[in-house]
Amino acid sequence: MTKRIIHWFRRDLRLDDNTALLAAYAATDEVIPVFIFDDAILRRPDTGANRVAFLLDSLRALDAAWRTRGGRLILRRGRPEEELARLVTETGATAVYFNLDVEPFALARDARVRTRLAGQCAVVGFEDGGLTAPSAVKTKSGTPYTVFTPYKNAVLNQTIPRPRSAPSVVKPPPQATSLPLPTLAELGFATTACLPPGGEAAAQARLNDFIQHNASRYATARDALAVDGTSRLSPYLRFGCLSPRRAYWNARDALPAGAAGLEAWVTELIWRDFYRQILFHFPYVETGAFKRAYDELAWENNEAWFERWCAGQTGFPIVDAAMRQLLETGWMHNRARMIVASFLTKDLLIDWRWGERHFMTHLVDGDLAANNGGWQWAASTGTDAQPYFRIFNPTTQGKKFDPTGAYIRRYVPELRAVPDRWLHEPACMPPDAQRAFRCVLGNDYPAPLVDHARQRAKALALFGRVCGSRA
Ligand SMILES: Cc1cc2nc3c(=O)[nH]c(=O)nc-3n(C[C@H](O)[C@H](O)[C@H](O)COP(=O)(O)OP(=O)(O)OC[C@H]3O[C@@H](n4cnc5c(N)ncnc54)[C@H](O)[C@@H]3O)c2cc1C
Repeated sequence: MTKRIIHWFRRDLRLDDNTALLAAYAATDEVIPVFIFDDAILRRPDTGANRVAFLLDSLRALDAAWRTRGGRLILRRGRPEEELARLVTETGATAVYFNLDVEPFALARDARVRTRLAGQCAVVGFEDGGLTAPSAVKTKSGTPYTVFTPYKNAVLNQTIPRPRSAPSVVKPPPQATSLPLPTLAELGFATTACLPPGGEAAAQARLNDFIQHNASRYATARDALAVDGTSRLSPYLRFGCLSPRRAYWNARDALPAGAAGLEAWVTELIWRDFYRQILFHFPYVETGAFKRAYDELAWENNEAWFERWCAGQTGFPIVDAAMRQLLETGWMHNRARMIVASFLTKDLLIDWRWGERHFMTHLVDGDLAANNGGWQWAASTGTDAQPYFRIFNPTTQGKKFDPTGAYIRRYVPELRAVPDRWLHEPACMPPDAQRAFRCVLGNDYPAPLVDHARQRAKALALFGRVCGSRA
């Protein structure tokens, strides 16, 4: 019997170095590419318009890539197990291939697919989403790593597989009905955020640009908020428009071994794998603290403060700039993510899960593993977390990582005319200066929502009650 394989695209929206797709083409010429819009995902409250818009753009690019090869991407909408069963019947497919995910939701969905298709065709999952598979790197005693540095060293001791190019020959797949690509509005979403273009070609272009212009200075420029010093590849890695192995090896091959920029950047790619394997091995982190004792933290959860944080109206310029960057662009600089997450949890004493959900709703790169890992790090509840008694001072962070104030001025126009000496602490401006620089506190720009020193003491007490005091 002719082998005919359905490749089910999920978070691997590319042809390059796509493990399941390459395996399908190694087995047969007749590959049917499909993407299924799953209402269970579309209706989740934290499925944000920015990610859906990026997804649609990436699907458009993926379909175009298939069409240049004489094929097309089949689009369906519904429950994946039912849509796949229908497609198997329509096309006479002998197998469904896909790349594995680490999220609890995806694992449960894939289990349903296996059950539904049992007896109808083979169902095969492949490891593809990281530099290494989530179970490939274990401690000597066979347990998952829960501390980053030894994990990183273990990854670096492994051979990261070289990326493989897209399958060269793509025969038109057998006829199968497809929906047209829906618009964002048809899916029930709208966004005004200025988003990057989706798709594999855009990802490759961004990777090349980063390697050529920014990678060598990454170690020093990555924390500067006003500088475009990071790769901005996170949405592409999130949706699999770019293979992490392609990113890793293209950078390694282009830069001298041991170069500070290269090693620092590779470390970030390994953080991505680290949090993937944490979520895979400890799925309870989706809803609770990695260190379970911290589930007892008595957050104050002031809703009005939370609204002010979400809107970028806290009166702390660096926090407000970052929160507005998120709203305007669907993305936020990593240093800014750390600052605002620390501020929400340690200054406003609000549960990290509230912030995690807000991020998830707006981030174009929103990814459960990385977002949860980042939030638990900042809230001191996670694996390798920031110790709870090390609390960022938002003003000092602003001065250090946005020394010229360019980042603040870009996203907080009310502060544009404020001279550098007061930019990070507008509340220190005398009243006549406030009037002169058109920034009257409480009128043009909010007065600080809280007193950092007081909130810091409260945070230490809050954490101290759970972990024993260490003020
Ligand atoms: C509170 C908080 C929430 C976060 N939420 C997300 C999220 O939802 N999705 C997401 O992809 N990243 C998240 N991060 C990690 C990090 O902020 C972003 O990956 C990074 O800012 C993306 O920018 P870049 O592509 O220019 O990164 P680069 O600095 O160029 O790094 C390259 C790639 O490495 C990965 N990476 C970098 N830093 C981390 C990290 N700390 N953890 C995991 N992976 C990392 C990303 O895939 C990134 O694209 C979060 C961090 C924090 C502190």
